[in-house]
Amino acid sequence: MLNFTSKINKIRTFALVLIFGGIIIMYLGLFFRNQPIIMTLFMLLGFLAIIASTVIYFWIGMLSSKAVKVNCPECGLQTKMLGRVDACMHCNEPLTLDPDLEGKEFNQAYNSKKKDTSSNS
Ligand SMILES: [Zn+2]
Repeated sequence: MLNFTSKINKIRTFALVLIFGGIIIMYLGLFFRNQPIIMTLFMLLGFLAIIASTVIYFWIGMLSSKAVKVNCPECGLQTKMLGRVDACMHCNEPLTLDPDLEGKEFNQAYNSKKKDTSSNS
């Protein structure tokens, strides 16, 4: 099967990595205690990463409130979908809301069709 995960899960993982990244950057700043400017820079960068991940977490909250709730036919659990095609959050089964795409090979590009037409003009 394709190595595909739910969009909400993907964003969540990214936010989590950003938090850890921010902590690591701030921790690295402690090695530059003799150079206050560099230390401040590290602290600021780490702080920004943590702020960014907080913003992303809020964004996920907004996205998932707008997402369509469906029951996955594969595992029977309720999952949330973003866009026309997405994967189940529990078993990564590809799902689609568009009947035209039903049975077709799963393709992430179906979500960005709008972008392709706008770039032509
Ligand atoms: Zn499932």
